[in-house]
Amino acid sequence: MSNERQEQALIGLDGLVAEGVLAKEQAPSLRAIEARYAVRMPRGIAQRIKQGGAIGAMLAKQYVPSLAEGYQDKDEEDDPTYDEAYSPVKGVVHRYPDRVLLKPLAVCPVYCRFCFRRARIGPKEPMLSPDDLQQAYAYIRSHKEIFDVILTGGDPLMLGLRRLEEIITSLSSIEHIGVIRVHSRVLMAEPARMTDGMMAVFSACAKPLYLVVHCNHPAEVTQEVRVACQRVRRTGVIVLGQSVLLKGINDDPTTLVQLWRGMVAAGIKPYALHHLDRAPGTAHFRVGLKRGLALVEQARAGLSGLCVPPFMVEIPRGGGKVALQVSNYRQDKDAWWLQDAQGDWHAYVDSCGDSCGES
Ligand SMILES: *Cc1c(COP(=O)(O)O)cnc(C)c1O
Ligand code: SF4
Repeated sequence: MSNERQEQALIGLDGLVAEGVLAKEQAPSLRAIEARYAVRMPRGIAQRIKQGGAIGAMLAKQYVPSLAEGYQDKDEEDDPTYDEAYSPVKGVVHRYPDRVLLKPLAVCPVYCRFCFRRARIGPKEPMLSPDDLQQAYAYIRSHKEIFDVILTGGDPLMLGLRRLEEIITSLSSIEHIGVIRVHSRVLMAEPARMTDGMMAVFSACAKPLYLVVHCNHPAEVTQEVRVACQRVRRTGVIVLGQSVLLKGINDDPTTLVQLWRGMVAAGIKPYALHHLDRAPGTAHFRVGLKRGLALVEQARAGLSGLCVPPFMVEIPRGGGKVALQVSNYRQDKDAWWLQDAQGDWHAYVDSCGDSCGES
């Protein structure tokens, strides 16, 4: 079954050329890019790219390698989030006391050209051995401050189902673990992989399981994705979404509004909009912070709170994530001033006083 599905994906530049996603003449100049960053695409995405139009162009920009990736900006780094510096055992990143990342494999259904882990993922990278996994569990077991385990990679839903189930079961049997998260692109990129077998694995999880899908454009939320998402939600899994702000993909307020509404209508709660990390060869996707903040503010003005995620920026050199927002309040001696969605300021007299509530 998994081999059959494997064949549904186009692998490498040759796969893209064979399917007509890339012209044969384009391949030679992209070989150096391919050698550095993995290339793969499910057949369903390839078909949509070939249909062309604005949607085809948007998908091509996200997934088809381009010569622009050969340019490396001076502040771009192979490990922009400093995963390595915070890795106590192989495959584990422990940056925040209460949360760890566990990266069981480095394979993805599709390789996004802007990926922040692009220098360290792909089929050539090893997956965790059973021994490595045991050491990761031992680390998590011995750190009682850990509440939340985030399975990431690569894409954990590319694991064989037995392996996935074994990992989820092992983690959920650790008493102090309250929640397991799976960060994945599979639902959007290759919804056919969300099989009954995978639903059975989700249903069997003894602790709350959150699936955090990665979705950057409203056109990624197809009818097939909506149906698959509904099946996931019926297993009791809570589905959240994360997006990356990307030049030429979603960097306008209308697209962001449609993206977040489309996600919410599919049962996906937008959880984060990420400012692009400084991974190598991604400068052509970059949106400045000032413009990013302005775009988010414009989109937010017309949206229900349910649809608006925080705008997350990674502090350089491992400083961690921070939610940026335009400040919408200030305080003077008479009152607080609160700004509404239209930009108008209103007095709020806090008669209770600054230390109200302290005992
Ligand atoms: C982003 C991230 C997390 C998760 O952070 P949340 O804000 O809880 O989603 C955990 N560990 C690392 C190293 C991260 O980069
Ligand atoms: S699916 Fe995620 S990890 Fe994989 S290439 Fe895309 S952004 Fe990177």
